[in-house]
Amino acid sequence: MSQILASSSALDVGMSDRAVADINGKDEGSRRIETLLIDLDDTLYQVRQAPELVRENIQAYMKTALKIPPQDIEKICLEYYTNYGTTMAGLVANGYQIDFDHWHAAVHGTLPYEQMLQEDRPLRQLLQSIDLPKYVFTNADKKHAETCLRLLDISDLFKGVICFESLMEEGRKQGIVTDNKPIICKPNKVAFKMALEAAGAKAATTAFFDDSARNVAAGHAAGLFSVLVGKTGTDCKADLEMLSLHNLREAMPGLWQQPPDSQHPEVVYAHPPLTGPTAAAMAQGVPDIPGDILEEYRRRAIKVAAGE
Ligand SMILES: [Mg+2]
Repeated sequence: MSQILASSSALDVGMSDRAVADINGKDEGSRRIETLLIDLDDTLYQVRQAPELVRENIQAYMKTALKIPPQDIEKICLEYYTNYGTTMAGLVANGYQIDFDHWHAAVHGTLPYEQMLQEDRPLRQLLQSIDLPKYVFTNADKKHAETCLRLLDISDLFKGVICFESLMEEGRKQGIVTDNKPIICKPNKVAFKMALEAAGAKAATTAFFDDSARNVAAGHAAGLFSVLVGKTGTDCKADLEMLSLHNLREAMPGLWQQPPDSQHPEVVYAHPPLTGPTAAAMAQGVPDIPGDILEEYRRRAIKVAAGE
């Protein structure tokens, strides 16, 4: 397997709109990267309306299928997302009986991805040019992942898809999951451990990309080189931030370079600070999160990642 370094640099754009922001790289130095774990929704693609549509579907399911009073839904979403990683994980932990296939069909299966997503040739060329094993690492279901990867025309570029079904199956094998409980998902530490095992990778030599500040903070805590995608200027505990995976070549040129190149480039901090939720938070039904609650998310993400 080829071994390369992940170093970072910033694009020459205005301070208020950095495409790439290196957060902790100065302290960490260059990292040798051998494997890429990449989230799916809002990371491999970004569709402006998708998080809001997913949120509406989750809340509609809670109302119609689970008979949760409408006035309680937003509060429950926030509480479960905060404490369990996803709304569905919280629902299952609190005794709701959920047919997982039914849930996934209702949340993603009803959305017009065929219209929202199309072939992404630049992304395909970018990923194809990186000579490293790549895995999709998503909390979403297999069918949804396959649909998106097919529409983007990047299915063949991944060695595997680590998703809801595979994490739960591994949980059953390891005796962690009984009677479909608990839900194994990011940002829980065990999900990262399983993903690394599935990829035959080590945390220290794996780069992880996600649009969720919580997941990125958890990945960072688990020792992965963790990159927030979709927002810069946050105080998220990430190694790197970029607006889009399309910025990957500028952000991590070391992925295309051979060592030795141990000098980490200049660190550039981004502005302004995070003022709203990431797409991932929005999709889970927490559309307007005050800064102090986001901070609480981050603190809890570290605890979840540490298995506390
Ligand atoms: Mg995502």
